[in-house]
Amino acid sequence: MCNNEAPFKKENGEPYLEVHHVLPLSEGGSDTIKNTIAVCPNCHMKFHYSAEKMNLRKTVVSVIKRLVCETGN
Ligand SMILES: [Zn+2]
Repeated sequence: MCNNEAPFKKENGEPYLEVHHVLPLSEGGSDTIKNTIAVCPNCHMKFHYSAEKMNLRKTVVSVIKRLVCETGN
């Protein structure tokens, strides 16, 4: 989302990112790559708590083609 590098590397050397479900599992979203993105911790919390979170959801679905909008809108 922010185009920054992951904030740190894990002990195994891999960059630390968090998995976000674009449509929450609690709203019927799937646990597949059609509904998930890897984001930094700041962006992840923005998706959950920002006043703009519904706009962020729409933007990411339109920009990342593999995401399938599972709400149908
Ligand atoms: Zn970010």
